[in-house]
Amino acid sequence: MADKVRVRFAPSPTGRLHIGGARTAIFNWAFARAMGGTFILRIEDTDPERSTEENVQVILNAMKWLGLDWDEGPEVGGEAGPYFQMQRMGTYTEALERLKERGAVYPCFCSKETLDAKREQAEKTEGGYAGYDRTCRDLDPAEAQRRIDAGEPHTWRLKVPLNHGPIEFNDAVYGHVSFPADVMDDMILVRTDGSPTYNFAVVCDDANMGITHVIRGDDHLSNTPRQILIYEALGYEKPTFAHLSMILGPDGKKLSKRHGATSVEEYRDRGYLPDAMVNFLALLGWSLDGETTIMSRDVICSQFSLDRITKKDAIFDETKLDWMNGQYIQKMGAKEWVELSRPWLARAHAEGYPYVYTAIVPTLDPNAPADAEEVEPLNEEQLAAFEDSYAADPAFYEALYPLVSERETSLTECESKLAYMFWGPCVLLDEKSVNKILRKDGARADEALAACREVLADEGNEWKAEVLEEKCRALAEPLEMKLRNLLQPLRVAICGNMVSPPLFESIELLKRSDVLARIDATIAEVF
Ligand code: GLU
Repeated sequence: MADKVRVRFAPSPTGRLHIGGARTAIFNWAFARAMGGTFILRIEDTDPERSTEENVQVILNAMKWLGLDWDEGPEVGGEAGPYFQMQRMGTYTEALERLKERGAVYPCFCSKETLDAKREQAEKTEGGYAGYDRTCRDLDPAEAQRRIDAGEPHTWRLKVPLNHGPIEFNDAVYGHVSFPADVMDDMILVRTDGSPTYNFAVVCDDANMGITHVIRGDDHLSNTPRQILIYEALGYEKPTFAHLSMILGPDGKKLSKRHGATSVEEYRDRGYLPDAMVNFLALLGWSLDGETTIMSRDVICSQFSLDRITKKDAIFDETKLDWMNGQYIQKMGAKEWVELSRPWLARAHAEGYPYVYTAIVPTLDPNAPADAEEVEPLNEEQLAAFEDSYAADPAFYEALYPLVSERETSLTECESKLAYMFWGPCVLLDEKSVNKILRKDGARADEALAACREVLADEGNEWKAEVLEEKCRALAEPLEMKLRNLLQPLRVAICGNMVSPPLFESIELLKRSDVLARIDATIAEVF
């Protein structure tokens, strides 16, 4: 193709950006980048009830969060604008005039009631409705004009050529596709109120914006032959079509709410990284080489090609997404981790001293579903307290990153995994850990705690993880204790449970006085 690639993502702003829409956006964006082309964002806001300003913002924010920058569209403008369909009404009127001049449309005066009655009748008696019966197609033009002039309500219908052979096109994904034209009825292009129908508006926009490739979900595959008829009627060259297969849940059924989160926003709120989402979604139906799974935006944007899109349905495997997210968390670095983890670090911070006290608390069910929507938001005071704490000591927050970087599959996890870092002199002791470690028969946990406490209280020992760990480990021999029995009680006393992030690295980040206070509080609570 000689022309420069121009592609568009054309969401109807009726709510959140769904996973399927995000995948379509990513494919268009990556294709534009790989081809040195232009990525256009067009808002299809012709449904006045659902297309609210707020919904537009939701889409734009999701696009920005994913890092899918558009070259033309809302906020950035461009020569082919405006980029909201509601602002393009004049162009649909012009296109209708063009079709009238070419004799490719006709006014239809049949009322909705008449059409409904005919449809009902046909369904009963003729075993099926074959579409509009073309009553108005052969009206005398002068008579039609007279009725228009008299103000009679009318739609404009496409005059589908009667001798049209099959409608054929080469889909970049599906290959050669053919639809019989004689089953296409004379579809309405412009309604009685003058508004364009979806198929008409899309074709006008794609043609006027110079779109070279239409990449979209295969739920639009059946619209494509209709749109091709409109291109032909207008005398415009049609773009290349690429229809993307469905996204299915792991059970093989169409992805839906039943499978969990379905919008980009929900994934953001559940602690997924934009880079991981883009990587994961790019692989829903496309592959670099059939094996590479982790790839940067740069790789996706330079290597993306339509010929590596599969027409097989894509499976949305959340376990793989979790794994991928974990990989990205491991690599992201402390600064970015803190930046993106702020909402959950703020929650961990809010759980802390002076609101927390020392107690034995029931063990949480690790399999309980994490329900992001049910979490109560922090109040202003809690948020401000976190901001103050962060501003006072950003290095502390960055130092938390290595404690969890290899353990998180989602950023939300720092809330539960790191809460103990904010408990000051208190500790919430997990019941199961207390029973298994501190109250274990014959394990001498009280002795172990007392001995470790002495090491930690000794001001002569530098407050460094390696030093403290070495000195504590050295107690095993004189006490004749297994390392496990020596150090696990300390872990429970400091972190609250037996499966915490690294113990001595945690201790180094805490105040000596708080560490000692936690040991004392634990001894008092348990023994
Ligand atoms: N606005 C349509 C939708 O959200 C997309 C139209 C198209 O891509 O042709 O489904």
